[in-house]
This record gives sequence, C-alpha cells and structure tokens, in this order.
Amino acid sequence: MLGNNTSYDYLIVGAGFAGAVLAERLAAGLNKKILLIDRRPHIGGNAYDCLDEAGILIHKYGPHIFHTNSRRIVDYLSRFTKWRKYEHKVLAQVDNLLVPMPINLTTLNKIYGLKMNSDEAQVFLDSKAEPVEKVLTSADVVISKIGTDLYEKFFRGYTRKQWGMDPSELDKTVTSRVPTRTTEDDRYFTDEFQCMPLDGYTKMFEKMLDHPNITIMLDIDFNTVKDKIKYSKLVFTGPIDEYFNYKYGKLPYRSLKFIHKTVNTKTYQPVAVVNYPSEDVEYTRITEYKYLTGQSHPLTSLTWEYPSSVGDPFYPIPKAENYELYKKYELLAEETPDVIFIGRLGSYRYYNMDQVVGQALAAYNRIATEKHGLDCPMPQHQEDQYVCSKAAI
Ligand code: FAD
Ligand code: UDP
Repeated sequence: MLGNNTSYDYLIVGAGFAGAVLAERLAAGLNKKILLIDRRPHIGGNAYDCLDEAGILIHKYGPHIFHTNSRRIVDYLSRFTKWRKYEHKVLAQVDNLLVPMPINLTTLNKIYGLKMNSDEAQVFLDSKAEPVEKVLTSADVVISKIGTDLYEKFFRGYTRKQWGMDPSELDKTVTSRVPTRTTEDDRYFTDEFQCMPLDGYTKMFEKMLDHPNITIMLDIDFNTVKDKIKYSKLVFTGPIDEYFNYKYGKLPYRSLKFIHKTVNTKTYQPVAVVNYPSEDVEYTRITEYKYLTGQSHPLTSLTWEYPSSVGDPFYPIPKAENYELYKKYELLAEETPDVIFIGRLGSYRYYNMDQVVGQALAAYNRIATEKHGLDCPMPQHQEDQYVCSKAAI
C-alpha cells in the first residue's frame, strides 16, 4: 500500500480518540479519503481494551472510565456503541483502613473514629483547613481546603509517586480534579453521564472506523513513512515536541508501567479501583476490571500501576514552565497551517476522553464550516472550549 500512487486527503497520525473521531467525521461527513496510522499494533490509543489469556476484558493502558456532562458527546459516541451504566467507586488504603476516595463523610468518620453528620463534617474540615493567600500549587489547593493531616494521608504520597514530584511543584489543576465531600456520595465522578461502552472501547473504535474511505495501517511510525505517503493535510495526535524534532527541547511527560495479572478468585477487592497513597508501596492503584465491564468469569484480572519517568508519554505534566515550553511549540504549530495538532499529546493537555472527543468534533466543525462552507454538522457550543489552534485548520 505504501509507495504506490494512492493519494489521501488526510493522513491522520494516531488511532486514539482524537485521530479516530476526526477520521470518522472527515470520511463520513465530508467524503474525505483518510489514511489512519498508529505505531502501536492496535487502534484505540490509550483506551484500547482486549481479552487477556483468561478471556477477561482488560484495559491495556490502565482503567478508562467514561464520564461527561456533554450530551452531544454521548450522542455522537452512541452511534458506535451501546452503553453499560457504571458509576465508578474508588477506595483508598489509609491507616490500614479502606475508605472512600474522594474523601467523603464516611471517610472522615472512619479515619477519625467520629460519628459526624454533614454539617459537623463541614465545621470539622473548616477547622482543619489552612487557608493560603494565593492557591497556586496542587499542595495549596488541598491544604487550604482540608488541612495538612488529610493532605498527607491521601494526596502527598500518591501525587509524589504518580508525578515524580511534590504536589507543591505541580499546578493546582492536578489535585483539583479530586473533590472533597461532606455527604455520603461515594462516586468518583459526579458527571451527568457515566457509562462504559457495552462491548468495550476497541469494539466501539472498530465500528467508528468501519468506513470505505478509511484505510488503517498499524505498527507504523509517522517518521518512517512520512515521505512515502501522498496526502494533502496532516492530523498529528502524537507528542507535538516530537513532531518538531524537539527543536526547543523535550516536553516532560509522565509514564506508567502496567503489571497485569489474573488471579484464581472470583473477586479480589471490593470495588473497581483501590488507591494506595502510602509511599511504602511503589504502585499507586490496583484495578479490577470485572467491576467496570460487568463480565462474569470464575477468575479475575487486575492491573497494578507503577508510575515511571520512562516509557510511553501518557501524561503531560501540568506545570507553568512546561506550558511555557509548550507555547513555543504552539507558535510553531500556528506557522504550520497544513498540520492539525490535537489530542492529549498534540495539545499537551491533561484531557479526559470526552474532552478529546469534544476537541476533535470542534476541529471537524471548523474544517466543515470554514473550508467547505457547510452548515455546521455538529452543533458547536461546548466543544469550542477545548483548545484547537484555528490557524492549524
Ligand atoms: P492517545 O490515546 O494517546 O492516542 C494517540 C495515539 O497516537 C497513540 O496510539 C500513539 O501510539 C499514536 N502515535 C503517537 N505518535 C505517533 C507516531 N509518530 N506515529 C504513529 N503513531 C503515533 N480519560 C477518561 O476520560 N477517563 C479515564 O478513566 C481515563 N483514565 C486514564 C488512565 C490512564 C492510565 C491514562 C494514561 C489516561 C486515562 N485517561 C482517561 C485519558 C485518556 O487516555 C485520554 O484522554 C485519551 O486516550 C486521549 O486520546 P488521544 O487520541 O489524544 O491520545
Ligand atoms: N490524587 C491523590 N490521591 C488519590 C487520587 C488522586 O493524590 O487517591 C491526586 C494525584 O495527584 C492525581 C490527581 O489527584 O494525579 C488527579 O487524580 P485523578 O484520579 O483525576 O487522576 P487520573 O488517574 O484520572 O489521571
């Protein structure tokens, strides 16, 4: 296929949410001819799931739980999958107890051996809170709301392990993702839509990409084939610094090592995810997939996550100096109008799956309206909040 005379309207690098959604929209919505490549041997990006040797559906790159407040995004994805209702529950192992995380009324009562109601818990937290003049870091945001003791028990160790740096060095947006509650609500997320693709993410991607205008090539790195493929436009969802050959230096990313195991017991832990904030163990959390997928099986499969500075670039690291460096690459991107940079790595943003879908739909809307003068095929509103360099389209 490579090196022949086939010419594509778009070469899309990366078959994760960003690349797959744009491929589907451009192919089905604008009748464009697409070549979608990925250097991994599968589609789905980090959301890829597959059956392990025991026949249990696992997430190769750690637990992916779909949650969003955007009906439009759910409606779009619902073209390619049915859903299983699932509200995510997480426990944290702290002081030899398993307690709900995010911290809630149950957590507070168990940790401190109290019997508070919600109002009393709020007074209790207010008495613990240590307000800071300006909340800047991931340490500030927690300590200013719930004080040092709970911060040290639940956040400091986990964050140091996860990011390889102290929360005081990380942007406040990181730990702001996790709220504290004085109710008994023990759901990890409070989004309006919380569900899992009924047959898994990979099946959903397969359906999304099943279009005669889309050709998929796997196990192929952009760098090795870029001069062999004929295309008019490029969509790049890999690391933006890599695309520009690290011209201004490397953008820092955090990685993870996943240890997948199947154990001979029906269930291993009481909920899908147990977090381990203590620095006595190197892993951050253990996931048991059957809770996410609803699969019945006499055995159970789990993943231990070990944060690492080497390996696949999973997480852009939210920190002012990293954004400064990213801004330089963003300027380069604006000077490269034939390339669209999107996705978690293309825009160096700690985006969830729904945000990446929103970003890709917004990119498509701009292409459809600006270049083709079509009435916007997907309503714009909410998707527009996600960064997508206009100049790049
Ligand atoms: P990716 O999924 O990373 O896809 C990019 C693809 O590009 C990759 O497959 C890569 O191989 C390919 N690529 C890169 N460079 C090249 C190249 N040069 N040549 C060829 N191919 C290339 N989000 C949620 O909403 N809920 C969750 O519960 C959740 N859990 C997560 C857990 C973990 C451990 C991680 C790491 C992320 C989690 N996320 C979650 C975030 C979610 O994974 C991302 O939002 C989403 O996958 C981003 O999609 P993407 O297409 O931007 O990037
Ligand atoms: N966090 C923590 N303790 C926990 C859970 C989360 O300190 O038990 C911090 C940690 O820094 C983490 C951040 O909060 O990176 C955001 O957590 P979230 O669960 O949103 O991270 P994700 O796994 O989705 O990237």
